[in-house]
Amino acid sequence: MGHAYVAVVGGAVGRAAILLAICALVLVAIVLQFGQVRALYGGSETAEERINCPSCGSRVPAEPDACEYCGESLEGGAEG
Ligand SMILES: [Zn+2]
Repeated sequence: MGHAYVAVVGGAVGRAAILLAICALVLVAIVLQFGQVRALYGGSETAEERINCPSCGSRVPAEPDACEYCGESLEGGAEG
């Protein structure tokens, strides 16, 4: 009924699957390393929006909060 043939093909597929799994793990490790490198080189700065403080001109996160340098409120007061 072809059991031997199925076993041979299954073994080959199993080896290929193991090789693919190893390649996938290596790729994941490389991607994770790149993520750490980007984080080290200021990748987070582009992740969050930043504006110039209307009072002192410093680059501060554009959150509804006060300037971390001069204490000026940034809530809706960026224009004008
Ligand atoms: Zn400021």
